[in-house]
Amino acid sequence: MAKSLRLGFQATMIMSEYNRDQLEALLMVRQYLGGLSRSRIGQIKRWIQPYLRFRGDVEDFQKKHFSEICTQRCFASHTSACCNREGIVTFFADVVINVLLSSTREVAALLRILSQDRGGFKCVYLTENGCLWHMKPIVCEMFLCKHAKDAVLEKDSSLRTQWEKFYRRERRYTWPSTPVLLDKLEELFIRAGFDSPLMYFHHSPGLLRVKNLSVKKHPKKPA
Ligand code: SF4
Ligand code: SF4
Repeated sequence: MAKSLRLGFQATMIMSEYNRDQLEALLMVRQYLGGLSRSRIGQIKRWIQPYLRFRGDVEDFQKKHFSEICTQRCFASHTSACCNREGIVTFFADVVINVLLSSTREVAALLRILSQDRGGFKCVYLTENGCLWHMKPIVCEMFLCKHAKDAVLEKDSSLRTQWEKFYRRERRYTWPSTPVLLDKLEELFIRAGFDSPLMYFHHSPGLLRVKNLSVKKHPKKPA
């Protein structure tokens, strides 16, 4: 039977479903990774290296071309359309990658904020010092509002082309028409007996359909 970490009755009564799913996923990942050998952790960290390079490239691009517009438009006035409450999909693998990169203290801060959430309009992870994730979810990284797109990408076709390339690179990790890293990381936990609503590659009808089509198109050859 699949393992899913159930929190205490009192905790689940006061926590939103979103926060509870996030908290349980974090606890599962921390528990499982905490029981692995150093060499196994090293192996999983090697799997994610190309993805981390991709994330670094996107981050550099965003810093270079969007930090000014985002500061002017949103951060100075605290009116960002990014980071709205429960506004993002978090993949289970986002949690895995983040925990792999985080210190014990950073993971503890995420657990704390989820259980002490005071509500409001902004994402539970957003603090005065920014996002609490060491590496934020991919959906957050790839989000650009219309205003930012119009101000930067629509005025410079070479930047628009670069951004489109980033989208194509993102799909190599997230779109399961071929085997992708985010699904592989989920699979690791499924095989270990865990289950979570954040495991979209195993629970989302849309993504399962894409995976099934891919298996039909590229059936595995018998060994
Ligand atoms: S992407 Fe748009 S909404 Fe988000 S911070 Fe930048 S300008 Fe603001
Ligand atoms: S996880 Fe971080 S980047 Fe994403 S919406 Fe929340 S505060 Fe913003």
